[in-house]
Amino acid sequence: SKQIATSYIDKVFNNLKEHHGHEPEFLQAAKEILYSLTPVFEKKPEYMKASLLERIVEPERVVKFRVSWEDDSGKIQVNRGYRVQFSSAIGPYKGGLRFHPSVNESIVKFLGFEQIFKNSLTGQPIGGAKGGADFDPKGKSDAEIMRFCQAFMTELHKYIGPDVDVPAGDIGVGSREIGFLFGQYNRIRGAYEPGVITGKLPRFGGSLARKEATGYGTVYFVQEMLKEKGLTFEDASVVVSGTGNVSTYAIEKAQQLGAKVIACSDSDGYIFDPDGIDLSVVKDIKEMRSGRIKEYVDSRPNATYKESCKGIWSIPCDIALPCATQNEIDEESAKLLIENGLKAVGEGANMPSTLQAIQAFLANDILFAPAKAANAGGVAVSALEMAQNSMRIFWTFEEVDEKLHDIMKSIYENSKNAAKEFGHDGNLLIGANIAGFLKVADAMIAQGI
Ligand code: GLU
Repeated sequence: SKQIATSYIDKVFNNLKEHHGHEPEFLQAAKEILYSLTPVFEKKPEYMKASLLERIVEPERVVKFRVSWEDDSGKIQVNRGYRVQFSSAIGPYKGGLRFHPSVNESIVKFLGFEQIFKNSLTGQPIGGAKGGADFDPKGKSDAEIMRFCQAFMTELHKYIGPDVDVPAGDIGVGSREIGFLFGQYNRIRGAYEPGVITGKLPRFGGSLARKEATGYGTVYFVQEMLKEKGLTFEDASVVVSGTGNVSTYAIEKAQQLGAKVIACSDSDGYIFDPDGIDLSVVKDIKEMRSGRIKEYVDSRPNATYKESCKGIWSIPCDIALPCATQNEIDEESAKLLIENGLKAVGEGANMPSTLQAIQAFLANDILFAPAKAANAGGVAVSALEMAQNSMRIFWTFEEVDEKLHDIMKSIYENSKNAAKEFGHDGNLLIGANIAGFLKVADAMIAQGI
């Protein structure tokens, strides 16, 4: 039955390759997930009969649109906008928007595909989606960002709604952009529907602790994984890539738990601070001034800056938390980390490790917390934001943080148990994929063709 399952998956994957050979990131995500589901199809041949994989790898809908807007010099600019509505089996489409020059259909599809299983894992009633634009927010004025967001929403609003599709932020989309997007939706819709988008500021329907949720959640998840082996964050040396929303609050929580965080980065380079990162300096540079991380060394004389992104993984550490972007840890970096005494990896970004890097981690018994489980805290609190919006109530920071903590613990338990049940004890990557998949699969079968 293993052979039947494997050849079924081969068939689906080869077909995907034939049709989407030009979408490398999507194929990478699909390959990782599909093959990890082999034990499921061994046990449940009825899933093969229902052509579940053929159906789930095909987005329910892909929307591509033109976004034209006027820059400060009066020039008309054109960008490409996307929304991939991947799966609505267990709830309205849900997932962030990414504004970055690298955005294309492959990137949005890989993110949307991951989102199906991640969202399922949270235990919240949310389907999977992702969107964005190849717009580069770097160096743009506030007014340009506003005009771009308005132009983007002028088209996107046709496809979303509180019970239809609920976007949020991702790389390049924070609370400022969410505010502009929501404002434009409001103007067009003519009704106050805060549940149409999450990551809003708390003063108009946002949830407390949403900003912190992804980073805190990643550390909560890794904490559970370490606990199993009698390890903790206390006095552990930690390297965290990125300085965005995920990274900043992963650093904050790791430090609260007694870790020594010695490095972080942005898209230009990384800083190494042997005394431990002063997060107030990072927040001042990144959140207050939208500056570059190299400015950190101006106020911290023992720290050094290097203009290299990959270089951050040459720093010896106990725990690596990649919180920047996809494929930031390749095989070479993974092996270097392992040689330098790495104990655990927690993926805060989406698909930050290449397939070869993951293999290296697993082959060397490194504790590995896969992205779709470890970074699910962000979208989990987005779902809590939707719940608060529906109920017209507002929870305290402590209430939301406690729910987040419980959700991360149960994602850990469910992933661990699924791995065990399907014969891969200790492999959280396989466990998370299976646990996320089963719920969606059963919903698809129950709802018919
Ligand atoms: N972009 C985040 C993610 O990758 C959050 C999505 C959301 O809150 O909808 O999960």
